[in-house]
Amino acid sequence: MATRDGDGWVECPCGGKHWGKFGAAGLLLIRGSQLLLQHRAPWVHNGDTWGIPGGARDSHESFTEAALREAHEEIAITAEEIEILDERAEDHGAWCYHTIIARAKSHCDPIAANQESIEVRWVERDLVNSLALHPAFGKNWANLHNLIQTLP
Ligand SMILES: [Zn+2]
Repeated sequence: MATRDGDGWVECPCGGKHWGKFGAAGLLLIRGSQLLLQHRAPWVHNGDTWGIPGGARDSHESFTEAALREAHEEIAITAEEIEILDERAEDHGAWCYHTIIARAKSHCDPIAANQESIEVRWVERDLVNSLALHPAFGKNWANLHNLIQTLP
C-alpha cells in the first residue's frame, strides 16, 4: 500500500487555499447527455453542495490515478467500467487541479460508497446549474460543459 501523502492545504499565490499538497484531481463521468454528480455531506469542506468525485493527489500518483482512486473510494467504480476521453488542467503554479473526463460503460453503476457523499445522481447537463454546486466545480463547469459537447 503506497503512502497517502497528499492530504493537506496549499496557500496559493492566487489568494486561495486549495486541498492537496501535490494538487488534486476529479472524475467527470458522462453517460449520454448526463453526468455523474455527488451530493457532498454537510460536514466536509464546502459541504452540502454538488460536485464531482475527487480529491488530493499523492506524490507517487498521476492525476488520472488519483482521480480513479478517489472515484473508487467515493462512488465504487473501477477503471474497467469507464473509458477515459480527455483531461483538463487548471494550473495555479503552486497547485494544479486536473479534471479527468470519462464515459461510463454500460455496466458502470456508481453508488455513494463512503460517508463523504449523501447521494450520487446522474444529472442532465442542462440542469447542472440548477443545483448548489461546489464553488470550484461551479467555476469550471461552463468550460467543461463546452468541452464535453465537442466529444464524439
Ligand atoms: Zn490557486
